[in-house]
Amino acid sequence: MIETGSPPRDLWLEAGRRGLLGLAVPLVYGGSEAEDWRFSAVLMEELAAVSAAIPSFLSIHFDVVAPYLIELTTDEQRERWLPRFCTGDLVTAIAMTESSGGSDLARIRTSAVRDGTDWILNGSKTFITNGGSADLVVVAARTNRTSGSKGITLFGVEAGMPGFSRGRNLDKVGQREADTAEIFFDDVRVPELNVIGQVDRGFQHMMRMLPQERLGAAVTSLAHARPILDLTLAYAKERRAFGTPIGAMQYNKFQLAELATMLDVSQSFVDACIDVHCAGVLSPADAAKAKWWCADVQNRVIDRCVQLHGGYGYMNEYRVARAWTDARVSKIWAGSNEIMKEIIGRDLGL
Ligand SMILES: Cc1cc2nc3c(=O)[nH]c(=O)nc-3n(C[C@H](O)[C@H](O)[C@H](O)COP(=O)(O)OP(=O)(O)OC[C@H]3O[C@@H](n4cnc5c(N)ncnc54)[C@H](O)[C@@H]3O)c2cc1C
Repeated sequence: MIETGSPPRDLWLEAGRRGLLGLAVPLVYGGSEAEDWRFSAVLMEELAAVSAAIPSFLSIHFDVVAPYLIELTTDEQRERWLPRFCTGDLVTAIAMTESSGGSDLARIRTSAVRDGTDWILNGSKTFITNGGSADLVVVAARTNRTSGSKGITLFGVEAGMPGFSRGRNLDKVGQREADTAEIFFDDVRVPELNVIGQVDRGFQHMMRMLPQERLGAAVTSLAHARPILDLTLAYAKERRAFGTPIGAMQYNKFQLAELATMLDVSQSFVDACIDVHCAGVLSPADAAKAKWWCADVQNRVIDRCVQLHGGYGYMNEYRVARAWTDARVSKIWAGSNEIMKEIIGRDLGL
């Protein structure tokens, strides 16, 4: 996958066969109708313990896009999309970010103009996970030029619609297994049947869904860092310098103690957020706290693990090196750390 920069369709189909893709989807559409979000959280943890990229591209589908297709769609859309969503025959993506800026979602420029019962979509999106391979992309487009955040609508753009095209697979420094692409809309005719949620309410729909995406990012950040700390502990017990294991040197012992503390203390907050989310009352500010903090902890832990590996920590054949490049994006995507602090600041009345 690293060489091709894109997960093969067989992987999606196998994930579908194993019931991983439709956890939140109602049974009637082929999903598992899981009792609550903890099932998704456990799946993300297990995947992140193996690799950072795999939960990224899978969870965009089963955890990020899923609520849009379950909660905002019509019966006809659910019947059309969800069964294949669960089997992996319909891979999905969500496209908010544009080249002119991703943080300020209210200013997106991709436009959709009504034409009879259809909408004509023009514009482009960038950095879209699964963008090169998705069969269905949830696209945020401006439908009302004068209404700012109140003039955005979500559309289901399907592969094969004339005028919908994809750019190259973007050359990332980490998570090279994931397909991240630009996508383009050139007079794409989207039928009214593919409007997702309410016209002009797309921004509000996204704001409602983003806390779950951010909590998922926090879960993944910690689950990705923990095995890297574990393997670094093993390394520090074996690797010797000056006739003694490096982990026995007080400086390194204290470093490792700090990393273990950071992960455990952060996990408590994330677990509390998961309970609150399952009760349906996770606030945007708490999701933002979990997301930026855990992204920071993940990067601090893994960076120090690289250091403890010495020169080997800089070699791609060592898992810790790959983890280091894979982790960096956590502080940028799904709302950067700075944007998370903006949200928290506003919640503090600032
Ligand atoms: C690998 C990868 C996968 C991604 N997948 C997706 C996807 O599937 N779908 C999707 O829609 N997007 C996706 N993104 C895009 C991602 O969400 C954006 O990159 C992110 O929101 C930041 O937007 P930007 O890159 O345009 O940076 P900008 O918005 O241009 O920000 C640049 C810098 O300015 C800072 N900044 C901006 N505003 C403020 C402020 N008010 N105060 C302080 N600092 C500020 C930012 O924090 C950042 O450091 C992905 C990105 C990457 C790298």
